[in-house]
Amino acid sequence: MTERLSTKVAIIGSGSAGYTAAIYTARASLSPLLITGYQTGGLLTLTQDVENFPGFADPILGPDLMAAMKKQAENVGTTMLTDQVERVDFSSKPLLCHTAGGKTIEAETIIIATGAQVRWLGIPGEQEYCGYGVSSCATCDGFFFKEQHVTVVGGGNSAVEEAIYLSSLAKKVTLVHRRDQLRAAPILQDRLFAISNIHCLWNTQVSQVHGTEKPKAVSHITVTTPEGPRDLDTKALFVAIGHDPCTHIFKEFIDTDDYGYALVRKGQTGTNIPGVFVAGDVQDSVFRQAITAAASGCMAALETEKYLAQSGE
Ligand code: NAP
Repeated sequence: MTERLSTKVAIIGSGSAGYTAAIYTARASLSPLLITGYQTGGLLTLTQDVENFPGFADPILGPDLMAAMKKQAENVGTTMLTDQVERVDFSSKPLLCHTAGGKTIEAETIIIATGAQVRWLGIPGEQEYCGYGVSSCATCDGFFFKEQHVTVVGGGNSAVEEAIYLSSLAKKVTLVHRRDQLRAAPILQDRLFAISNIHCLWNTQVSQVHGTEKPKAVSHITVTTPEGPRDLDTKALFVAIGHDPCTHIFKEFIDTDDYGYALVRKGQTGTNIPGVFVAGDVQDSVFRQAITAAASGCMAALETEKYLAQSGE
């Protein structure tokens, strides 16, 4: 039989946006229920050293940072539910979430903080060296490859921005793109082409990542060019071929843009459904940092609190 749970605030997702929303709503005595999803801790659990989250003079491991946020949320009064929301119904109040574990959650408000999934190439060696030279975030991991040769794959805004960012740290950046034209904004392309240590490999696909075991590190990649396959020495491969926001289960109710990102009112976190708020990468295709996700989690919590106060619930 389906177990029913009722809450003033349900938070879906356990990345830095979800945990921050939980900390704020719990401290506002709203007793939030946070449904963690299968990947508790979100994308940061796939990261090694985090050096850009304020408050930590020494690097902190991504999983440790997320474990600390979870504990903080619990300590101030959040109930954690290790389960996955599979289906929602926002057509009337209370808002409903149905979980894989057979629970139905009735909520007065919902904060969606389900994040975005990195799109990976799906080639041999990619997952094996993820965190050991293969990365999806130049801002997070570029620092570890100072004065080295690094490679970026992709041709959109993200890839070009990553290449530009890395060019100031690395000795050389190779941008590998599968076509002979970038899809990035012209202004970004102009900036990219003006940087002397960035080289583009056109009509080329990355087909394999190779590395060493001790120390575990990327040593080179195989690329397939119009002339055939060849090896390219590189210490890092930054995969920037897009992200997929995790909005599929909400799409029947929540307005999204052409890429699937949840739409919010400018500078706010409310969606087209009263009482449903969004925070973190699920609504952010631009910044995608743990700190910006945490900030929007805080905003969503404050707006949720205001909404409940105004609706008298
Ligand atoms: P994107 O615009 O979808 O670009 C993805 C790129 O990866 C494309 O060039 C695509 O090639 C390539 N690609 C996709 N699958 C591939 C595969 N399997 N193998 C090799 N290459 C592959 O993604 P994005 O750059 O992450 O941007 C997503 C959204 O965020 C966009 O709306 C973008 O404008 C926005 N964004 C904005 C900013 C900004 O405004 N500053 C910064 C970052 C992102 P093709 O070109 O051949 O399709």
